Amino acid sequence: MIQSEQDQLIYLDANATTPVLPEIAKVVVHTMQVCFGNPSSAHITGVQAKHLMEEARNKGREVIGATSGELLFTSGATEGIQTAIVSALSDYVQRAEEVYEKPVLMYGATEHKAVPNTLKHWNRLLGLDAQILEIPVDSKGILDLDFIAEHVEQAVMVCTMAANNETGIKQDLLRLEQVIREGNAKTAWMVDCVQALGKLPLQLSQTTIDYAPFSGHKLYAPKGIGFLYIRSGSPYTPFIAGGGQESGMRSGTENIPGIAALSTLFDMLLDKENSPFNPVEQLEKHRSMLAEAIETTFKQVTFHHDFALSVPTTLNFSVDHLTNKEVIDLLDAAGIRVSGGSACSSGSSRSFVLDAMNVPDWQSENAIRLSFGPADSEAQIRKACEALTSLQPILENNCLVVSDSTAPEQEACAVGLTQLRHQGACCWLYVTADKQAIIVDPVPELVPRLQRLLDKQGLGCRALLKTHLSEPASDAVNLLSHNLIDNKVVDDFGWPVDGTHGLLQESLIQLPGAEKESENRCYLLMQGDDVSACFAGKLLLPQGLGDSQGETACAASMAETLLRLNEILDDNSLICSALDYQQCFAINWHAQVQVSPLLGRLLNGACSTDEFIEQKASMDSDSSTFRERFLGALMDSAVPAVKALNRSAAEEWLQCHEGMIIDCREPYESDVSRRGITELFGNLAVGRVLNIPLSRMTDVLRNGALDSSQHYLLVCRTGNRSMQAGNTLAMLGFDRVANLAGGLALN
Ligand code: PLP
Repeated sequence: MIQSEQDQLIYLDANATTPVLPEIAKVVVHTMQVCFGNPSSAHITGVQAKHLMEEARNKGREVIGATSGELLFTSGATEGIQTAIVSALSDYVQRAEEVYEKPVLMYGATEHKAVPNTLKHWNRLLGLDAQILEIPVDSKGILDLDFIAEHVEQAVMVCTMAANNETGIKQDLLRLEQVIREGNAKTAWMVDCVQALGKLPLQLSQTTIDYAPFSGHKLYAPKGIGFLYIRSGSPYTPFIAGGGQESGMRSGTENIPGIAALSTLFDMLLDKENSPFNPVEQLEKHRSMLAEAIETTFKQVTFHHDFALSVPTTLNFSVDHLTNKEVIDLLDAAGIRVSGGSACSSGSSRSFVLDAMNVPDWQSENAIRLSFGPADSEAQIRKACEALTSLQPILENNCLVVSDSTAPEQEACAVGLTQLRHQGACCWLYVTADKQAIIVDPVPELVPRLQRLLDKQGLGCRALLKTHLSEPASDAVNLLSHNLIDNKVVDDFGWPVDGTHGLLQESLIQLPGAEKESENRCYLLMQGDDVSACFAGKLLLPQGLGDSQGETACAASMAETLLRLNEILDDNSLICSALDYQQCFAINWHAQVQVSPLLGRLLNGACSTDEFIEQKASMDSDSSTFRERFLGALMDSAVPAVKALNRSAAEEWLQCHEGMIIDCREPYESDVSRRGITELFGNLAVGRVLNIPLSRMTDVLRNGALDSSQHYLLVCRTGNRSMQAGNTLAMLGFDRVANLAGGLALN
């Protein structure tokens, strides 16, 4: 873990990568400057480099117990995986005899994506055309040995791993070997050992493992260096041909500084007395300390793996009722770096590793991986635990965790309109000054959050309304219904059947004529005689029209409702949808009509209702996916993009304009952040910061608290949310907004 003095960073993402240890960095610099030779050169400088390389290789052999076979330096584990797979597959392709009737390639379901993707790639390119089989795992993440036994006879290759990068779960290599070799003595067996180095004892030459890839940057060496063990006699094909380096096994001038780094790392691993690496018992103690701190901080926590079956440096968990984005944002703002799922395959919102273990959906979608390095000291781990537990009051005050020690005066205030999101789904909470609440379009995943808000802020729940009759919305309403304080008989949408329109002091009415529609409803939030917001459900999406192909929608009733809305809404009425794939957060009727060409044509009479129905139907049926169908209804003109400023341009901007700075972070992030806006801009920021999280953007616009003729500089943690807010404001006619690109993270 690095804790740099300036910013007190606590790095708990060692499975993604580690910092280079100072001793290793020193050796790398020395090698680059002094021992910089090319090992292929005949002169003394070259000979010295060659000597350094061979010494490193011998030490590496000792570390992994490779008394025989080859140890080859590579650029990292992905290259090692390529080399192993190309070697095994091309050997099979060239074999004239002993071919299988139905060849298969097998890999564990929880393998790093580098493995299945490489298998598929070379299977196709080498024309092998083998069937690729994913070996299932049980709920503990352990490979199904019966499945292997059943298929191994026809296996060209079997790929497994020693320890998993997301969960730390170890495989029993001895049992695996028995099953594999009983069924097939010849199959090529690769074991990905990336997450095992420094954490598990390895004696590779005592096994029949054919290939074992390793990566330096997972254990304090730089990126771009790794190594591959190849069992004596196993098939081998150079993956990189060229000048014949590494005895022709891997061409290209060797990465001597990287190899010197590994050499120093190997020294550290071998010198048990002076090693900076902690023994397993100490690592287990560190894991217990962190697990306890996580439980103290977040209270309702589920760990997704059996600690007894895992390497001690990885903790994979989810917090009940908190998305991993919320947890990661909070920790990141507090200077604690963890990861959601696997850092190496980021982009996916759920964990395929946890899915393979049949972990429930919520936990797979919201998994957090906390991983530390074997060289972290107990003092560093204690400091990390203190940093975690120090977040407890912030979580409580922001209604993020259930607490019995409330300080209501410090709680985030829900009065007004708040948008709560779960992925693309939006739910709206409207609260009056005297704490009466209406919830529109609740989402099951947000029920615990809503419940806490109702409980902790003492809100009286007056209505649970739905704009559509989907099953999840009904489930969410049922889960919250005990909060309702009126005993009114309501229809399927939650609207009182006695026709009372006076919900919440007359502030909410149903779109007139709505009772005619059976499938969708709109509700209007009134401010005096004006409609300040329209809960439009799935009819309108920010920047587009909803789906008219679904079970509950049809283009004819959509057109009818849109025309009716056009008579009732004014330009500034805000549209509150049940879906927001575009991360738009707030849009008004004027902008909605501007950016949705089909809507514009319907309203200005350029197309008749029949033409609208036809055009909408063809738009919806054009694209194959649900999401594309929505986007198909979006505008064809580009959304105005907010101006991006770097730090010095932003300072100049603040000097030139009298405008305000809008901090788009959620209050809990600002509470924990060690570096705030005043630290960044000094006196230029004093008295000029407004906190408007995206969840409250609609409310601020509804209250007219922002003025489109003013200058605003938008800021958040990384610059993404502030860019979204800026784009939305630009669309709403704010043409003097700018965004701090890279946010507080990069400036
Ligand atoms: N295998 C495992 C288990 C990993 O964790 C990783 C990296 O996350 C890789 C392979 C790929 O390693 P590299 O980044 O060195 O190519």
